[in-house]
Amino acid sequence: MKLYNTLSGKIEPFVPLEEGKVKMYTCGPTVYHYAHIGNLRNYIMEDILEKTLRYIGYEVTRVMNITDVGHLSSDADTGEDKMLKGAKREHKTVLEIADLYTKAFFQDCEKLNIKYPDIVSPATSHIADYIKMIETLLAKGYAYESQGNIYFDTSKLDDYYQLTNHQEDDLVVGARAGVEYDDSKRNQADFVLWFTKSKFDDQELKWDSPWGIGYPGWHIECSCISMCHLGETLDIHCGGVDNIFPHHTNEIAQSEAYLGHKWCNYWVHNEHLNIASGKMSKSTGEFITVATLEEKGFDPLSYRFFCLGSHYRKQLLFHYESLESAAKAYQKLKQRVRGLLLDSSGEVDSKIVFQYDRQFQEALMDDLNTANACTVLYDVLKLDCNNATKLDLIRKFDSVLSLSLLETVEVDKNLEQYILEQIAKRQEAKEQKDFATADRIRSELLKQGIVLRDTRVGTTYEIEEK
Ligand code: AMP
Ligand code: ZN
Repeated sequence: MKLYNTLSGKIEPFVPLEEGKVKMYTCGPTVYHYAHIGNLRNYIMEDILEKTLRYIGYEVTRVMNITDVGHLSSDADTGEDKMLKGAKREHKTVLEIADLYTKAFFQDCEKLNIKYPDIVSPATSHIADYIKMIETLLAKGYAYESQGNIYFDTSKLDDYYQLTNHQEDDLVVGARAGVEYDDSKRNQADFVLWFTKSKFDDQELKWDSPWGIGYPGWHIECSCISMCHLGETLDIHCGGVDNIFPHHTNEIAQSEAYLGHKWCNYWVHNEHLNIASGKMSKSTGEFITVATLEEKGFDPLSYRFFCLGSHYRKQLLFHYESLESAAKAYQKLKQRVRGLLLDSSGEVDSKIVFQYDRQFQEALMDDLNTANACTVLYDVLKLDCNNATKLDLIRKFDSVLSLSLLETVEVDKNLEQYILEQIAKRQEAKEQKDFATADRIRSELLKQGIVLRDTRVGTTYEIEEK
């Protein structure tokens, strides 16, 4: 398996710490609103990574946090807590908001065939872990108290910017939206580990700590949740590219200062989904959800199919027209597979399965080339072999692609019965060399949008999109 590692800036062979096992951590959603389809692109691609690793034989443990406290609207240490903002917007408590949007998030994931991670942990359930890590950082001299908050001292590290290629100035100015000069910090890159004094509204959820009643910073959550479930080392950490700085940079800083050794070997980042006006974002309010897609008549899985057509490290521009073409191609694909199910008798040709399965794996092992993996799927559909062999391969591929290709599509049972009868009549006519009748049946069906395909192993059909 080869993966692009943001830490080295290169595509590298993936070698886990323990043979055959992968410890994977993925930053979860901030549950103050519905996830938009940009967020979900990120989780679709992480799902593909997890399933690919499993497919090629690794035992994967995947952990995801749920951010229900501490994520301020600037991604840095300023702005209002996003959860509190959501609670005010909806006249609910923070916990009610967290519960509502956590459930909504996993419902969306289910509709997109995104597997539930092995472990899901809300940030509010790890307060003791944050306190322990902060105490150690203070004791080791990596943290300090100032004006009521505990900060991480970035000047204590030789390589604070190891994930970001040392573009210190660019990053501080460019990436931290709403960054302001903060006189309580020793260095402007320092970040909050524990708040007891926020410049903004009073926090709803607060806990006692050795430094007074307060709440954790956002970054400390992921370090502690990962270590709680996966131990002191990690194979893969994922997130969107906007998480590289400051979130993941700060996670590395505090984790490695705390542990005294390297923490995570591979950092995998997904590019954004954009709309014409720029990045799709929750905070600007301009976002499309799974529910929006459904209201417009799209099967959520056609969005998954749309995402698989492009590489995770490339920005993807969202237009309804492109989703529309993806949706048509997806329906056609499902119909072709359904056609194969009409006659799946025969023996699976293991040589063919081996050959095409290898091609499929090679595509995914090449830094998750999902578009090439889909091409292998189309190649299989065109193969000159029996349906049983094709279906065997499709079943295997779909365990990673997760497009529900073999699930029964909603087809009118009467219509199907009628088509099958027509196919049988045409076959009979052909056997009796009555080609005129056979052709008439075919063109009658065509007029109704039903296309027959004669394959070596029988006739299949597709219902054309209207
Ligand atoms: P949030 O719920 O805001 O914490 O974001 C959840 C995940 O979605 C993070 O890993 C972000 O990096 C990612 N993300 C945010 N916006 C986009 C976008 N437009 N396209 C793809 N991923 C995104
Ligand atoms: Zn995180």
